[in-house]
Amino acid sequence: MIQKDALRQFNSILRARVLPTTDLLIHHEPYKNESLESYLFRSANNNALKSLAELERSLSLPNGKPFSYKRYEQLSTSIGGSVSRLATMIPTIYQNNILMLNRHSLLNQQLALTTSKLCPCCVKQYGYGKIYWSLAALAVCEEHGVYLIDSCICKPDALLDTARPSYSVCKCGLDLRFEIGRPASDNAVMLAEEIVRLFNRIPKPGNSMLTNVFGGASDLILTDVLTLVALLGVLDSETGSIGVRLARPLVRLAYVVPAFEKAANALESWPAGVFPLFRAALGLNQYTPKPSVLMRKLSSLSEAIDGKVTPSVYKVFLAAQAAFMQTPSAWSPVHLSQKV
Ligand SMILES: [Zn+2]
Ligand SMILES: [Zn+2]
Repeated sequence: MIQKDALRQFNSILRARVLPTTDLLIHHEPYKNESLESYLFRSANNNALKSLAELERSLSLPNGKPFSYKRYEQLSTSIGGSVSRLATMIPTIYQNNILMLNRHSLLNQQLALTTSKLCPCCVKQYGYGKIYWSLAALAVCEEHGVYLIDSCICKPDALLDTARPSYSVCKCGLDLRFEIGRPASDNAVMLAEEIVRLFNRIPKPGNSMLTNVFGGASDLILTDVLTLVALLGVLDSETGSIGVRLARPLVRLAYVVPAFEKAANALESWPAGVFPLFRAALGLNQYTPKPSVLMRKLSSLSEAIDGKVTPSVYKVFLAAQAAFMQTPSAWSPVHLSQKV
């Protein structure tokens, strides 16, 4: 018993040495669904720090990287927030290439931790940012139907960073809450709604865009859905480059937005919705191939994807390929021009 106490004491000394704590004057609990970035910004502002970057420095917080579970206690002591709440909102290293967020296990590349994405309308309405905006593939606010933003009009090519004065204010002084959100397509909003519902574990009665693809609500797993969205976003690239593009995902909204729209359109009328992406991926927009040629091209496409996506997504992908093979009218560029 004494040994155990001594060990605990030794561990807490060690932890205190490795992870500095700063007991800030004003402590807060996070809001419902609040992102870690938004929460840290609020804490920095309410404690009269110049920016989140200053708080990050004083607590030696990793910037743009997931945290270890040891950070729960450090942040709880320093800025408030119960350990159990922090555990759900902190992107936490679980094991090699796997992170936990809101008790979902996700692949490293499925979270955009180096960028800051926000919906100006939500921040204006609620005063804070949402945790699920850090999902790398997500480009749209499901509630306001607008694209998220990751930069300010003062410098559209520069990403927002933690040195800005507050969560919604750019370094140039512009309050991003008064930016006018750019409306997203109906399909993209629908896809965003489904992803957020899944993230928050809110079941939807009846069929949905995603249950139609995966075969049932009980089969829906967030990491599979994000993998499929990422795959559809890059499917019309050159076959040889798809694997690399999946492993190093898009994080800048300038690229995420068109990829998200592409995925939403394909998912809305699955599997026919993915046929134009197959045609583009296989270079069929100029001619109609013989079935044997098509078969060869499709098999090199599935080889390029094998092992780069989750087993459920691979299964769904092969089923869509089979549906494409069985629909000769979809192979031809004429089909495309008729559709247009
Ligand atoms: Zn919003
Ligand atoms: Zn600015």
